[in-house]
Amino acid sequence: MARLVLKFGGTSVADIERIRVVAAHVKREVDAGNEVAVVVSAMAGTTNQLVDWCKEAAPLHDAREYDSVVSAGEQITSGLLAIALSDMGVPARSWLGWQIPIRTTGVHGAARIEAIETDAMEQAFAEGRVAVVAGFQGIGENNRIATLGRGGSDTSAVALAAALNADRCDIYTDVDGVYTTDPRMTPRARKLAKITYEEMLEMASQGAKVLQTRSVGMAMTHQVRVLVRSSFDDPHAPELVAATNGNSDLPGTLVCDEEEIVEQELVTGIAYSRDEAKITLVKVADKPGVSAAIFGPLADAGMNVDMIVQNVSEDGSMTDLTFTVSHAELDKARAVIEAAKDEIGYQHLIADGDVSKISVIGVGMRSHTGVAQKMFRALADRNINIHVISTSEIKVSVLIDAEYTELAVRALHTAYGLDGEAA
Ligand code: ADP
Ligand code: ASP
Ligand code: MG
Repeated sequence: MARLVLKFGGTSVADIERIRVVAAHVKREVDAGNEVAVVVSAMAGTTNQLVDWCKEAAPLHDAREYDSVVSAGEQITSGLLAIALSDMGVPARSWLGWQIPIRTTGVHGAARIEAIETDAMEQAFAEGRVAVVAGFQGIGENNRIATLGRGGSDTSAVALAAALNADRCDIYTDVDGVYTTDPRMTPRARKLAKITYEEMLEMASQGAKVLQTRSVGMAMTHQVRVLVRSSFDDPHAPELVAATNGNSDLPGTLVCDEEEIVEQELVTGIAYSRDEAKITLVKVADKPGVSAAIFGPLADAGMNVDMIVQNVSEDGSMTDLTFTVSHAELDKARAVIEAAKDEIGYQHLIADGDVSKISVIGVGMRSHTGVAQKMFRALADRNINIHVISTSEIKVSVLIDAEYTELAVRALHTAYGLDGEAA
């Protein structure tokens, strides 16, 4: 018997028919003798609709009320799944975040999970019941509902798996695993059987939204085995039943420790993010304290700055400084910088929201050289200009014009030998 947490995303619970398929996947695990907790997202599109309503009601609204509204989608799907399970003869009940309770920080819209009470779920297991938990939500300061950021149900699931000491956390979604790049970008993307926590963390943080970044960080810290797999497989397929019963390999992609991966490629995957914007400050003084004057106010405003480049000044007095922020925060960043113009001292500001970031990722980079060079060559061959470069131990990222996003991803996918048969 194993203890499992299964998570189903928005497209997997998009309507009642899909929820019945989800219930059948859950039943297969229960029939195999496993203890099962399920985390569900809202139906596809629901959270977007709820976010839009908040904005329509008032562009500047109370984040606590926003959380109260946007958490509602998961209330519906958790209840519906419990109903569908019961209808199939599988005893189940639903819980909202506050009922468990899942305690979070009070940072509304981006709360972090701090503690999870497991008694109720343990009791459900003891009674042979499935615990269905609404994802994306918890309870923060002053008993207010808090949500975990977009895509946060992944984090709910991994956190539950850690708290319950589960043997595995299965993330069921609309693709059958983690691919070398977003399969929507190229039909030649290949499914990976395994990926390291570190690589998955970089992939997610650089834009591969198949898992929320925080969920991967949490899985790594708590050593949760995460399996990304498809909810669109036939839940009754004999090979799936056999795998569930431990008689053959499980489908999907396992996120795991590096030691578990025998053959390591130089580059494992390519991620892209269109949610980027670039700000250049022209003619800032090249002297101590200027960076602090720029990035201090941005940090105080709670803004994340990603890539930064400062040119060397020719005569040692003036230089240009470029940095990137998320596209959604471009206007806010510009306002913060313009408000601090006197302290910073720059000639003018250029903002560009038409950029995207492409990243190549792989733990193999630690021991091999030439990875970045290959990237620059492949982009140069396609005449794609690089605006900013940044690197980490297992990643190289470049900022390019947004119109070349797809071309760049495909070119790099080929250049690093990642292409498979066209799907
Ligand atoms: P869910 O609603 O189940 O949470 P998401 O839409 O959040 O699903 O994540 C699944 C999507 O992630 C896929 O449809 C795919 O387009 C995208 N994706 C991006 N990068 C990758 C990748 N490297 N491998 C697999 N899927 C990826
Ligand atoms: N429903 C939430 C969202 O759309 C959480 C999730 O799906 O993971 O962001
Ligand atoms: Mg998701």
